[in-house]
Amino acid sequence: MSVIYLDNNATTRVDEAVLEEMLPYLTEYYGNPSSMHTFGGQLARNIEQAREKVAALLGAQPTEIIFTSCGTEGDNAAIRAALRTQPDKKNIVTTAVEHPAVYTLCKRLEKEGYRVTYLPVNGKGLIDLKELKASLTDDTALVSVMCANNETGTIFPIERIGQIVKERGILFHVDAVQAVGKVPLNMSESTVDFLVLSGHKLHAPKGIGVLYVRKGVRFRPLLIGGHQERGRRGGTSNVPAIIGLGKAAELAIQHVTEEVTQVKELRDRLEQGLLSQIPDCQLNGHPSMRLPNTTNIGFKYIEGEAILLSLDRFGICASSGSACTSGSLEPSHVLRAMGLPYTLLHGSIRFSLSRYTTSAEIDRVLEVMPAIVERLRMISPFKNEADEEHGWLQTAREQQGRGVMETVK
Ligand code: PLP
Repeated sequence: MSVIYLDNNATTRVDEAVLEEMLPYLTEYYGNPSSMHTFGGQLARNIEQAREKVAALLGAQPTEIIFTSCGTEGDNAAIRAALRTQPDKKNIVTTAVEHPAVYTLCKRLEKEGYRVTYLPVNGKGLIDLKELKASLTDDTALVSVMCANNETGTIFPIERIGQIVKERGILFHVDAVQAVGKVPLNMSESTVDFLVLSGHKLHAPKGIGVLYVRKGVRFRPLLIGGHQERGRRGGTSNVPAIIGLGKAAELAIQHVTEEVTQVKELRDRLEQGLLSQIPDCQLNGHPSMRLPNTTNIGFKYIEGEAILLSLDRFGICASSGSACTSGSLEPSHVLRAMGLPYTLLHGSIRFSLSRYTTSAEIDRVLEVMPAIVERLRMISPFKNEADEEHGWLQTAREQQGRGVMETVK
């Protein structure tokens, strides 16, 4: 059974061209770019070429690019640097829907004596800009806001937020891990001071990321060690992954139009198909201010995990908003912050597409999903509650007009 991979916000397939470019750096050119000898030292030039390609993707200068190990490291390094360079300031303003790379760090910082303001979001996942403005004080060291949400794909108006932040002379950090390669970004015309990306979200391998630091912004390294990355990030350079990310950045520039046209078209067909065929489900997130590849749909009265397991039987990979931590199923903090009702919170599924997604794959999901949802609703513990709410089960049966599993092959 071939896999239908619709979990590209979790990670992506390494592009063949990326792999091809990387391979010689694992076997032939395996030296250390910090070495004095030519065999290793010559690799420093290849790293600089990759840096130029990443800079081009972001509309940045190559010296503003620091290679890291992942998005989480970039977020930690940016936030810690902003705090260390302004030791008198103790407030951080962020949102209630950040990825754990920022959110959990902020929780830790509270224990370290910082005051964190978590801006609430509305039902579509957006913050109120007036509330943002009112939250900024002379004690605010940093505003940290993600560009696009990993669960719903909702895109924050980064430059409008940045204008408000800059009016107060405050540092601005953007976690753009989900946005880079999917929507165009241009740091040369931006208010952003720190921006973070992660290679494995844009068809480069895992284990490589980037922290963009605007020229002139003060910085303190998170990893103290050797002089790599101009003293801003110690640790032997991951040459093959850096080369791979350079190639992935080049490809992302070529493919970004495809993301916002073809990928979006497939995403919209999937979304509209599910919403029209299945009763009692709704879109989570903003209908238009959203990543072109992401749709998050809440299916009332059933568990997201049960849907995922059923999809898995058909080789379909998607994701639910719940995090199965410490043995208990905690509904996603993102969907909770959006105020979703209990009946939807547990039954939300994220489908995230890529340029590899085909039309036939979308057809297959549309073919199997209605029957999966209907079957799970029939055995749902919320069945009675649902029956009372709208008699949906009746409607579902009438619409299908045939046995549940019959339709699923
Ligand atoms: N920020 C966002 C919005 C993400 O979606 C992710 C990963 O899913 C990260 C940060 C962390 O990136 P990494 O997995 O490279 O540490």
